[in-house]
Amino acid sequence: MTDKNALQIHMFPCLSDNYGFLVHDPASRQTASIDTPDADVISRELEARNWQLTHILNTHHHFDHAGGNLQLKEHYACRIYGPAHDAERIPGMDIRLKEGDILTLGAHEIRVMETPGHTSGHIVYYLPQQRILFAGDTLFSVGCGRLFEGTPAQMWDSLGKIMALPEDTTIYCAHEYTLNNIEFARSIDRNNKDLERYYQEARQLRSENRPTLPTTLSLELRVNPFLRPDAPAIAETLGAGDSETLARFAEIRRRKDRF
Ligand code: ZN
Ligand code: FE
Repeated sequence: MTDKNALQIHMFPCLSDNYGFLVHDPASRQTASIDTPDADVISRELEARNWQLTHILNTHHHFDHAGGNLQLKEHYACRIYGPAHDAERIPGMDIRLKEGDILTLGAHEIRVMETPGHTSGHIVYYLPQQRILFAGDTLFSVGCGRLFEGTPAQMWDSLGKIMALPEDTTIYCAHEYTLNNIEFARSIDRNNKDLERYYQEARQLRSENRPTLPTTLSLELRVNPFLRPDAPAIAETLGAGDSETLARFAEIRRRKDRF
C-alpha cells in the first residue's frame, strides 16, 4: 500500500559529482531543495514534476551547495534556511537555524543538527518520521568531509551525533565519492567482508552510471573507517602511536587527505 501523502524524495546529479535533492510534500504542495548546486538543473527537475519550490535548506556556504540560491529565490520567491553561524556567507538567507531547531514541510518535521568540521557552520537535516538524513558534506558513504574549517575533535563529535540516530536511517550525502572512498578504506581496513561486498556493488552501480546513494547508517557503521577508528583491523594498520579513538580518527583523516 502506498501512502499518497508520503514525502517524495527526488535525487539527481549536478555539477561534476554533486547530487541535488528535492523533497516534496503532496498534501501541502510544499517543496524543499536541499542545497542549490545548480539552479538550472534544479529548476528543470521542479518543472518536470510541476512542483513549486517553497524552501531552500542549505547545509553550508560552499559554492557547490549555495551557488544557486539567488537565481532560485528570484524565480520562486522561496525562503532560504541555513546555519545561523554562516548567515553572512550564504546568499539570500532568510531564516537562521541552530542545533535542535525544527522546521516543517507541511505536516513533516525536519530537525537541525549542527555538525561543524568540514566548515565551522555546517548543519545537517534529519526527518525523524521518515528516518532520513541529508548529510551535506559532513558524512559521505565510506568517507567524511575534509576539515576545511574545523578540528578533528569537532568532526568526531559531529559524526557522533549522526551515529546516535537509528541504525535504519537513510542517508543522502551530497557527493558521489563512494568508489574513491572505498579504495582508501580497503587500504586501512583489510579483510572487511562487508566492505569488499560493497566495493563490488558500488563498482557495478558506477559502471552503469547509477548512484551509490542513498546509504544507510547500519551499512556505514560496518564499512566507513571514519565511524570505526577502534575496529581492530584499522587500529592494527595505524599502529601503536595512535592509541586514543580521536587520535586514530585524526590519523585516518590525514591519510585520506594524502591518498
Ligand atoms: Zn563543501
Ligand atoms: Fe560539497
